[in-house]
Amino acid sequence: MGRRPRNAEGKGGRALIMAGKDDKLSPATRLVTGGRSGDFADHVVNPPVWRASTHLYADCAALREGVKTNEDGRFFYGRRGAPTQWALCEALTELEPGAYGTVLYPSGVAAIVGSLMAVLKAGDVLLVTDNAYDPTRSAAMGILKRFGVEHRFFDPLDHAAYEAAFCERTKAIMLEVPGSLTFEVCDIPALARIARDKGATSILDNTWATALGFAGLSHGCDIVVTALTKHVGGHSDLMMGAASAGERWYRRMRQTSQQLGHVVSPDDAALALRGLRTMGIRLERESATALALAQWLEAREDVAHVLCPMLPGAPGHETWRRDFTGGCGLFSFVLKGRDDAARCRLVDALQLFGIGYSWGGFESLALPFHVEPIRSRMAWPKPGWGVEDRYAIRLSIGLEDPQDLIADLERGFAAMNEG
Ligand SMILES: *Cc1c(COP(=O)(O)O)cnc(C)c1O
Repeated sequence: MGRRPRNAEGKGGRALIMAGKDDKLSPATRLVTGGRSGDFADHVVNPPVWRASTHLYADCAALREGVKTNEDGRFFYGRRGAPTQWALCEALTELEPGAYGTVLYPSGVAAIVGSLMAVLKAGDVLLVTDNAYDPTRSAAMGILKRFGVEHRFFDPLDHAAYEAAFCERTKAIMLEVPGSLTFEVCDIPALARIARDKGATSILDNTWATALGFAGLSHGCDIVVTALTKHVGGHSDLMMGAASAGERWYRRMRQTSQQLGHVVSPDDAALALRGLRTMGIRLERESATALALAQWLEAREDVAHVLCPMLPGAPGHETWRRDFTGGCGLFSFVLKGRDDAARCRLVDALQLFGIGYSWGGFESLALPFHVEPIRSRMAWPKPGWGVEDRYAIRLSIGLEDPQDLIADLERGFAAMNEG
């Protein structure tokens, strides 16, 4: 599943949606027009859900001819996708400046590991940012290690240590911005440039900002991975991942993914396309609410730190402002000198915030988390903080009214301080 050759001519000869070819369109418009210019979407707004394992051939000659081509946009067998998946790939490719194609994966983790397996082989060394999503760390320490790939974790804010971590076998860098749970904003252009100079491939987990908020390939990365489970799905009912890249890495990822037998269902692809159309306004709304909540939290005496790159004065804000065109509703805050029991009283008292993993849906979530077990290089509490300022909560802000969310948090803090 991947790239699809475009034919913008409708059956009646009229060009229906040609917008995908226009480089000047803004991302907001691309969210609407993306993936709608192909042969298969004529005369309906959304591509139909093509449920198919088997594609039928006209005759034996057509069957034999089919084996000779392995191209996107040509039916072969269900595992290589059908128009619903191809339309989603095309829409995601159009959103990512510099991308030649996009490969879909059954989850965000599958996209991360699938990309790493496309790039690496036994004997290679992988550098992993120390603040990566925990399952990314686990994959480096688990399956990749078992298949002969070594890894080293690095602090993405310490460029000297990062450069020193390279050796001649270093072939790939796994980046993520902002850092998982702790929201450090590293200098992606600088880290990717160093990797390129040393002949290593940069892979970026861009799930937080999406292509709307950060153009990963234009900032020097070679492969950009997104967990579509989060903002693209947007409704907490879908698991999927994607990786976009220029032609060379796109072809390698597509081949590797076919060999691993990855496939996503057409029903899920249709849901992802539906989510994608409204992602822009959802991100705008949740970012605005998150910023209001971050400011409200910052003013509280029982909050020691607010880790939200969009918040002026917060760690990483300047780099975020330099490189990003948007943010999202996911951020953390650290309680001032409280313990885990106090933190649990706060979270348990919340009525609008669900308690759960994942994020990027229309509903708000709160997650108490422990950083210490999932860092090898970066200190927690952070340098300069009080030693007791360690108990943190991550919030994923949804589409509720901001005042209702603040009232809910008031209730949580009251419960915490009564205990
Ligand atoms: C959730 C998430 C993933 C993994 O996505 P799944 O679809 O849950 O496998 C990867 N990276 C980040 C930053 C995430 O938040």
